[in-house]
Amino acid sequence: MKDQNCIFCKIANGEIPSRTIYEDEQFRIFLDLAPASKGHALIVPKEHYANLFVLPDELAADAMRLAKRQAADMKEKLCCDGFQLVQNNGESAGQTVFHFHLHLIPRYRNDGQTIAWEPGNLSAEELDAVKAQILS
Ligand code: 5GP
Ligand code: ZN
Repeated sequence: MKDQNCIFCKIANGEIPSRTIYEDEQFRIFLDLAPASKGHALIVPKEHYANLFVLPDELAADAMRLAKRQAADMKEKLCCDGFQLVQNNGESAGQTVFHFHLHLIPRYRNDGQTIAWEPGNLSAEELDAVKAQILS
């Protein structure tokens, strides 16, 4: 299923041009227009799924398999030092395009990027309470 108003549906299905670095029946991988680093790319399924929660299991597995393969290839070609996979779900998590995508972000020593979080500081009791909530 496609969403007529979705930019990633249009890019993934070739209606809008992109700097495509890989394509198969299920996915397109193209360069991010506002890259966090040299080579920052997005794995995008051709079908419209808003986020991880509605993505079929098989497609999720295929996306991760593809990410592994593509990251290895890009690491060799771009000679990056590290590699981040980032995947945002929901506005509060930084999602701005509501069509599932997986960021492939090559990292370079001293690239000046910060794709990170402030480490928190929870007591043992608080950590236990979180664990209990998740297991409830
Ligand atoms: P999100 O914040 O939803 O995880 O990531 C959306 C990403 O899509 C951003 O990194 C943004 O730069 C990228 N992006 C948004 N619109 C376009 C577009 O039209 N073309 C390309 N290539 N990237 C886009
Ligand atoms: Zn879409």
